[in-house]
Formats: sequence, structure tokens, C-alpha cells
Amino acid sequence: MSCKQQTKNADNPFFTEYNTPFGVPPFDKIDTSDYMPAFTEGMKQHNDEILAITENKETPTFENTILAFDKSGQLLTKVSKVFFNVKQAHNNEKLQEIAQKVTPLLSAHSDNISMNAKLFERIKSVYENRDNLKLDAQQKRVVEKYFRDFEREGANLPADKQQELKKINEQLAILSVKFGENLLAETNKNFSLVIDKKEDLAGLPEGVIAAAAETAKAEGQDGKWVFKLNKPSMIPFLQYADNRDLRQKLYTGYFTRGNNNNNNDNKQVVLDMVRLRAEKAKLLGFDNFAAYVIDENMAKTTQAVDDFLIKLMAAATPVAKKELAEMQALSDKEGNKFKLESWDWWYYAEKLRKQKYDLDENELRPYFSLQNVRNGMFAVATKLYGISFNRIDNLPVYHKDVETYEVKDTDGSHLGILYLDYFPRPTKDGGAWCTDFQSAGYDENGKKVDPIISIVCNFTPPTGDKPSLLNWDETTTLFHEFGHGLHGLFTQGKFTRTAGNVPQDFVELPSQVMENWAGEPEVLRMYAKHYETGEVIPEELIAKIQNSGLFNQGFDNSEYIAASILDMDFHKLTSPVTLSNVEEFEKTAMQNIGLINEIWPRYRSTYFAHIFDGGYAAGYYVYLWAAVLDADAFDYFKQSGDIFNQQLAASFRKNVLTEGGDDEGMIQYMKFRGQEPSIEPLMKKRGLN
Ligand SMILES: [Zn+2]
Repeated sequence: MSCKQQTKNADNPFFTEYNTPFGVPPFDKIDTSDYMPAFTEGMKQHNDEILAITENKETPTFENTILAFDKSGQLLTKVSKVFFNVKQAHNNEKLQEIAQKVTPLLSAHSDNISMNAKLFERIKSVYENRDNLKLDAQQKRVVEKYFRDFEREGANLPADKQQELKKINEQLAILSVKFGENLLAETNKNFSLVIDKKEDLAGLPEGVIAAAAETAKAEGQDGKWVFKLNKPSMIPFLQYADNRDLRQKLYTGYFTRGNNNNNNDNKQVVLDMVRLRAEKAKLLGFDNFAAYVIDENMAKTTQAVDDFLIKLMAAATPVAKKELAEMQALSDKEGNKFKLESWDWWYYAEKLRKQKYDLDENELRPYFSLQNVRNGMFAVATKLYGISFNRIDNLPVYHKDVETYEVKDTDGSHLGILYLDYFPRPTKDGGAWCTDFQSAGYDENGKKVDPIISIVCNFTPPTGDKPSLLNWDETTTLFHEFGHGLHGLFTQGKFTRTAGNVPQDFVELPSQVMENWAGEPEVLRMYAKHYETGEVIPEELIAKIQNSGLFNQGFDNSEYIAASILDMDFHKLTSPVTLSNVEEFEKTAMQNIGLINEIWPRYRSTYFAHIFDGGYAAGYYVYLWAAVLDADAFDYFKQSGDIFNQQLAASFRKNVLTEGGDDEGMIQYMKFRGQEPSIEPLMKKRGLN
């Protein structure tokens, strides 16, 4: 190494221990030019560490193989966490350039590791000897996890089968890109609802009309109004437009995307992907692709997923029919002579909502100042777990708007750091998320590492002399992300592979469960106070909040479950797949579960990006599964007569939040709950019983 490089490296904050309070990233010292050298060095160190494992002449042991692998790549993790989190929350062109450069390098890097035959040989050797190595339960679990990770990628297959698998993976990758490109064209390019007569805008709110005028301008149709098939453009039109023919035109455009027998048709892509996934599952020793995916999840079997979906569908269908009947009556009363169709649902549901569930946002907001909501969620965590939150101002931040807190445990000891970043800005991605700059765990020298958690949102900002006043959706979102945050703060575990690492259908339990506290009358009375007068939210508004949770649930649940079933049905097909007609398949699947004609599945096959161009194949059900769990968990508190029951809170913290990754998800949950989760509390909460 030359002297020059050494000086350069000495200045790079990623190459030394962070010299900051609580070891948080020194954002004020990190320069954009520090990232790439840190990535390069991080990958090099990681490779060296893996080489040291594979070239070790000693017999593979837990320490020299599994533990060494578990603790490898720390520099790469360190720089990746800072880089990708900052990029999401406070992007710029330089960061984008680095991302484009480094992303393919990182994916090649991880492929090289998962295909490292020598590494797998050593892991396999430890795995096969695991019962003779005097390992404790956690060590054994980590060995099994790593072995399974490699096995699931095909590392344990003979060479010719590995070749076959590689080909399938390549084809699947190409097809999923194609699916996404077709869908993008069908959504943005191939369809526009162009309106040139003002009377056709009747019913639409002003903001919606203005946005449509903007879209028209962008499409070179100045002076007209254009509606597109993305949901922010389409849904308001379906909700408010009085012109029924235009609603039909727009919605038909939406639900036929990818199914127009043009260059962007996705039917063959779907058939090919389903066939290849079934082949992949067979190669890896599974009956079908869904079994392969769900084997890693809390549900464990496709049967368990089908069972809960079908039970909920049976409960949702009569409610959907009732909603339809109510809307039909409303339409009849208006003197209409038609039977409602799928494109009428949003329009009449909106009328019904106004009549029965009207929750005026402007009436609500003054009780939900950001400060009160934040203090409310902190207070809930304090009452449940005894932890405290102390604002500190001397930590470096990546943007001046970020708030920082030290979180202390019941006994006053340091638990972790929490960053809160609330408001939109042009450099921030949309939505809300919880992430970490450092996960709880232990470093390669066995030293404890404390969590540094970050919550990023896009909430209503303060205006003039008014503070940020949240709507109900934003309020529950903050509680939701905070739930992920608590999971990250409480996580403990010796091994990177298992600490806090829970299955896909468990991830949303810690977050969604917190939303229950947000809306509980007892808790609302604690934090929902008028920002000017301090007046506690009136009981009448509390009742409205509670009631609004029941709006349109027959529809919401039916369309979600229908999509989940469609996903499951495609991925339960066994190889060789003989399926040839996507539309017929979908129709049969929907008939089997009794989906009414007035509702389409939330995503139809040809635009189901979650499963054909995302990470949710055989996994769209996970949100609903977690909803069953969160309702069941909260119900346990309620049944005890105290939503702050200390014994239950301690058990939830220990078994679900702290040790969630220590054993199979269902076992961890049952340690808390004492029995399997029931779907009854969710049905009750959503008015489906
Ligand atoms: Zn979440």
C-alpha cells in the first residue's frame, strides 16, 4: 500500500471506530468520496475473511467456520447501512451515481459467497456433526440456518442440477424485469383517459382536477384533463366522478393491464414464470414453489396459509354482499336503473362513508399535533416496558431536521439511539420506514453493539404559525414504524444470522401491534389533546375513530384475500406445469372462493407486480397473517383487563421482540401467547363476525 493511500484511508471515517457519542455514524465527517473506497475495502476484507475460513487447514468447527462466517463482512455492513439509509432519506446525484456503480458489485459479491463450494463444504461438515459438537441451542440453530440458506440456493445439488438451477434463475430474472417493463408501459404509456369537456369532471374535488390538468400538460394535452392508471390518479376519479361511463372506461383500463394482446401483454410471462418456479422448487426437493417459500416462514405449510385465508374469505364475503346491497339501495334511491358494477364500488362506497362513517380530517387534526403523537407513543412504550426517551442535541445528523433520542432501559442503562426524521423534502423517498444504522448484536471481538434506529416519514409539515398536525393515517403510521423501532431496540442475540432476524410473515407483528394502542380510547385520552387549548379529544371523535375502522371492510378484505389466494394457487402448481390459460385459471380460482362479480382481486395476474416483479411470490398473504397475530396479541392484553399489563408486556418484549429470531416464529409467539393465534380477534376488529 502506498503512503498516499494510507493518508487517504486514515481520513475515511469508515476505516476507524466512530469517534462520536454512543458510536453513531459521524455524518458531519463523512464525505461522499468516502463511500466507494469503503465499499471496495469492505468487499476485499470480506473476501479475505472468507478465504481465511476456506483455507483453514483445521477440521471445520463451530468457531472456525460458522462463527467466523457469522462475524465476517463487518466493514461492508457498516458502510452499506449508512450509505443506503442516507440515500433513501437524503439523496443527491453523487449518491445515485455511487449506487449505480456499487449495486451490481454488491450483488456479484454476495453471489460469489453463496456459490462458494469450499465454504459450503465446511458449513456442511459442521452441520453434519452438529450433534457431536456440544453446541448450545442457539449455536445449533445458527448452524442449521446457514446450512439451509446455502441448500436453498442449490449449494447441495450435484453439478448438473446446479447448472439447471442457474439457468432457471437467470430466466426468472429476465422474465421478472420484462413483467415490470410491460406493466410500466401499460400503466403510464398505453392508456390515458383524456377529458376535454368540463361537465365530465362533475363531482371531482378541485385538487384532483388541478392534478389532472398538470398530467395533461405533461402529456402535451394542454387545456385538457388526463387521468392515468396509477392509483393516486385513478382512485379519486373512481371515488368522485359522477360520469359513470368514464369510471367504467378508466377502471377497465386498469384491470386489463398486461392483458391487451399487445407487445406489453404479460400472460405468457406469467405462464413462463409459474412453470419455471415450479421446476425450481422440484429441483430443490419441494412439492411446489409455495412450499419452498413458506417452509422458511412462520406459517410453515401452504395448508396453514390456505386455511386461514379461506376462513377469513368466508367471513368477508357476506359483509361485502351487505355493503353492495347498501350501495345498491343508495343508487336506487337516486333513481338509477342499473345494477352496480366493479367500477361503481368506490363511488358509492364514498357516499356511504360520508353518511355512516364521516371522519372529518380537519376536525381531527388539531388533536394530533406531531409533538403530542410522538409523546403519546413514547408514553405507551414507557408504560409497557419502563423504557425512557431523552432528547439529545449533540449527535451528528445527516439532515438538520432529524431529531435524536437516547433510549434508556428500565434500570437507566443505555439501550440504544433513535433518530426521527418526519417531513418530506425533495431528496427523500416517499412513504415511511424504519431502518437502522447499526443493528444490536456483538462484533467480531465479542463486544456488545447497541442499536441505532432510524424512523423516516413524510408527514404533513408545519405551516406558518401552525405546528405539524397529523391525520389519523399518519398517526397510526408513526406508531407502526415505532413498533419496528422497538423491535430493533430490544433485539438481542449473539449471532448476526438470528438476532432480530424473523420470517417475512412475522416482521409486521411488532409494528402493527402498536397501532392497536394508538386507537385505544384510554390511550387517545392520554395523548390526543388540542394543540392550542390542551383540551382532551371529545368522546364523540373517539367513537368516530373507532367506527371508521369498520368502513368497507367486506370489500377491502375480499380483494386482498382474493389476490393472496391467486398468488397461492399459481405457486402451488407442481412441475411439470401444464397451465396454458391465465384468464381461465384466475376465473376458476376466484369462483372457488366465491368472490362476487363486483369485486376484482386487488391485483390480477397480469399486473400482480408483488409476486411477478417483487419479493412476495407465495408471500402476498404475509400482511394479513401478521394482522391476525397483532389483533390476537392485543386481544390478550385486553382480555387481561389491562392494556398495560406488566406481565404480558414483559413476556411480549422477551419472547417476541428480544428473542423473536431465537426459534421458529410460531414457537416464539406461543411462548408469549400460551396458545396458537386465533383469527377471531381480527374478525371482530374488522367487523367480519
Ligand atoms: Zn411495517
